[in-house]
Amino acid sequence: MKRFILKKETQKPSEYLIKYSDLLNSQQLKAVMHDSGPALVIAGAGTGKTRTLIYRVARLIESGTDPSSVLLLTFTRRAAREMLDRASSVLDERCNRVKGGTFHFYCSQLLRRYHKEIDFPAGFSIIDSADARDVIQMLRAELKLNRSDKRFPQKSTLLNMISGSVNRQIELSDLVEQDYNQFRDHTEEIGRLKKAYEEYKRKHHLMDFDDLLIRTQELLNTDERVRAEVQLQHKHVMVDEYQDTNALQSALVKLFTPYTQNVMVVGDDAQSIYAFRGADHKNIMQFPELLTGTEIITLEENYRSTANILRVANSVLDQARNKYEKKLFTKREDGELPALVKTEDTREQSRFVSQMIMNLREQEVPLHDVAVLFRNARDSFDLEIELNKKKLPFIKYGGQKFADAAHIKDVLAHLRVIENPADALSWTRILMLIDGIGPKTASDFMEWLSGNTNPYELASSGLVNESYKSGLYSLSQLLIDLKNGSFTPYEAVGHIKEYYSPICEKKFDDYPKRVKDLEALHALVVDYRDYKHLLEELALDPIEATAIDVEGTSEDEKPLVLSTIHSAKGLEWKHVFLIQCLDGVIPSSFSLNDEDSLEEELRLMYVAVTRACDMLYICYPMLQHGGFGDVMTKPSRFIEHAGQDLLEPWLLTEEEQPINNENLLPEAGAPIKQLNSGK
Ligand code: ATP
Ligand code: MG
Repeated sequence: MKRFILKKETQKPSEYLIKYSDLLNSQQLKAVMHDSGPALVIAGAGTGKTRTLIYRVARLIESGTDPSSVLLLTFTRRAAREMLDRASSVLDERCNRVKGGTFHFYCSQLLRRYHKEIDFPAGFSIIDSADARDVIQMLRAELKLNRSDKRFPQKSTLLNMISGSVNRQIELSDLVEQDYNQFRDHTEEIGRLKKAYEEYKRKHHLMDFDDLLIRTQELLNTDERVRAEVQLQHKHVMVDEYQDTNALQSALVKLFTPYTQNVMVVGDDAQSIYAFRGADHKNIMQFPELLTGTEIITLEENYRSTANILRVANSVLDQARNKYEKKLFTKREDGELPALVKTEDTREQSRFVSQMIMNLREQEVPLHDVAVLFRNARDSFDLEIELNKKKLPFIKYGGQKFADAAHIKDVLAHLRVIENPADALSWTRILMLIDGIGPKTASDFMEWLSGNTNPYELASSGLVNESYKSGLYSLSQLLIDLKNGSFTPYEAVGHIKEYYSPICEKKFDDYPKRVKDLEALHALVVDYRDYKHLLEELALDPIEATAIDVEGTSEDEKPLVLSTIHSAKGLEWKHVFLIQCLDGVIPSSFSLNDEDSLEEELRLMYVAVTRACDMLYICYPMLQHGGFGDVMTKPSRFIEHAGQDLLEPWLLTEEEQPINNENLLPEAGAPIKQLNSGK
């Protein structure tokens, strides 16, 4: 046999369109030019990890790599889209053809493509955790497990157990033993429930989020042909925010790895904040063991924040039990000292934040360069009222998801039964919206439906009863139209909305608000080509509740961002307010007795602080008004330990009130901010 050796054709830097060396520091450049084999970019916040991946995408495409052979996995689909848009803007449109998305999204695509191999219909439905809890509740009753004398775990605990065992890849019985010892006597029943849950999903063509990952793993582990095909399709795999992956996701990374071993993961172990979803911050440190020969690249220079903000970030990291090796440094100027703003109560905190934001706007800082961050979605409720009063438009990330709201689920369930006629959960949901149909009748219908080739002809079921006849006919007509009408998702949602509005009005007291949501949903689906894509996107990357329900947004003013710290991951703003910075909030009161949880809260604090570019305002109220009267609070231990010299205390005084009490004054030179009375 004759041998022909293919030469490596590396491009010279001068041949690139983009002048990478002018735009990146030497370590970043090394990562961008990295050609083959596994690589781990591990670095602190704001050191350009995401930017490096963006330029690496551009560089690979520029070097002639087929965009569809590049896989970019990110934490949200929004992040993937933004990164590819950025890459397209620095190079060209080809970058948008890169495969980008979350692990769940990519796995769902693979499973639909290889549905025969996993013996599942291509049109399976994806259920979210609320749906999964409902199924578990129903099965628990069916198996009569709730009748036991001893306390049996609740549906959400059961789901956490099942999901935890899948994500952490440990036996359910071991997990119960380790983490839920109080339910040890029920291990056998919990196991039975898990089995029934698996069977139910199979029968009704459903997959929950965990299934998407676990099924893909099984498929690639067992089917060599599929594995080879998938691996051949990938020339390069890249993962951002790798510190928040779990054991299953790392196993998938390994399975996706092309024969060239071209995998680059980037992340910051000090920013791992998703342990409650099974993420393991040690994963990132163990990446070199996952793929041998990993090149480790570290980035040290922070480009995001002023030196003074970084000092606070470093002092937070210094408090970690688990010492992180990095210290952030910047060539940026010191900037203003971050503010420590003590307010009387939450009201005053809201007044301060909103007035300060108005001041910034007057100083030409656009609203979208400002963010308010908090530990829990509820921490911003008071501020939201204040912002509405002042007509300051905002968008909120985190908290309840739009697609989780009952009325949105109701509407989507109609589309789901069209896509997957075996989706019993959605059938039950839409049948029970009809007056006169309760759980018993719905379950009679379910029996009739199963195995029926024409399930939308509900009127021919022989189950028609006067009390719900007209409602049933209307539903049947709607479904037949949706099935046969070849509507776009926009048209379909329009029809469902018309059918559903009177039901919604009867069902919910706050109907007017919900109608606005339905309109928002209608507007949102305009770009979708088919029902399947729409349902898939909404299930996997739910739009955040208030993200589309922005009060008073004008066309030309982008809104202020309100976000939970979790949802602010990877993002940055010029001015960041961190509110409710209290002990018991951050760190959360649930974490106080557990060192690992406390450590995770500390990392969360580090994520919050490192979102700010120019100015950071840490705020806490001294009093909390509660059901049992006023409670004195304590500032977060993380700022107490940060040391006062890193933060400048601000004193708030009411307008027109002379400052005559020396004791109230902060140290000499501290700024005194006047609040406008009442407004
Ligand atoms: P995080 O840990 O928060 O995800 P990151 O490490 O991904 O942060 P990036 O978001 O990529 O950091 O970068 C932070 C900021 O620094 C961005 O505004 C980015 O454009 C800027 N930046 C990064 N590297 C450079 C560079 N070499 N020159 C100029 N700006 C840079
Ligand atoms: Mg990033």
